[in-house]
Amino acid sequence: MTNIILLGPPGAGKGTQARKLVEERGMVQLSTGDMLREAKTSGTEMGKRVAEVMDRGQLVTDEIVNGLIEEKLKTAGGNGFIFDGFPRTLPQADALGKLLAKIGSKLDAVIEMRVDDEALVRRITGRFTCGNCGEVYHDETKPTKVPGTCDVCGSHDLKRRADDNEDSLKTRLMEYYKKTSPLIGYYYATGDLFTVDGLAEIDDVARQMSAILDQQAS
Ligand code: ADP
Ligand code: ADP
Ligand code: ZN
Repeated sequence: MTNIILLGPPGAGKGTQARKLVEERGMVQLSTGDMLREAKTSGTEMGKRVAEVMDRGQLVTDEIVNGLIEEKLKTAGGNGFIFDGFPRTLPQADALGKLLAKIGSKLDAVIEMRVDDEALVRRITGRFTCGNCGEVYHDETKPTKVPGTCDVCGSHDLKRRADDNEDSLKTRLMEYYKKTSPLIGYYYATGDLFTVDGLAEIDDVARQMSAILDQQAS
């Protein structure tokens, strides 16, 4: 059982790599972004409260996301957790350490995905996903084989996120550098930090990740 955090700015490739790890290693992906979007579309009170904040590109409160993760840790099993987009602040990192300890578990590795800002703009503005199975695509780097049809499940429900525009991305990047990037120093200090070159091709990034995971498991 290996528990990892994928750490990186919006568009770094966290979701893409998490899905591969789920498929190849039977790990469980816990994406706070996906959980929040689910709450948004299901129209819960919490969903309504966070919708505007998310669309603007700001972070929602630690209290809300910590609560979401706590709920999932109680129920989800599998071959280790992939924390995708969580923690994003130092208080969230502290909360995660405590929550894992509570279930008799711990963090094994934090993988920082390094990508420059210019590439992030291209990644975010070209991103679309399958509304049915969650597969992540890109207009240029990962198009569907048949236009308008998901390769994985055949659904035609392909969509773009409300916050995937240059305006919101600017705010998201500021939030990342101000509030999330300090976690790189934090996890360097705890000895858990590994870095991959997120600019490499998708399969190459996956190989870099696998090497880290295999090293952790041995
Ligand atoms: P990306 O794929 O661009 O990194 P996510 O899907 O992880 O984005 O998150 C989308 C939005 O959801 C964020 O911009 C933020 O508003 C909210 N969000 C997701 N995770 C967190 C978190 N751990 N803390 C605070 N806000 C979060
Ligand atoms: P994050 O979850 O970190 O926000 P995603 O996994 O959603 O990032 O990826 C953002 C966009 O970039 C998607 O359109 C995805 O298809 C594309 N992408 C992901 N990894 C790579 C890569 N290594 N090279 C080129 N494009 C990529
Ligand atoms: Zn699909």
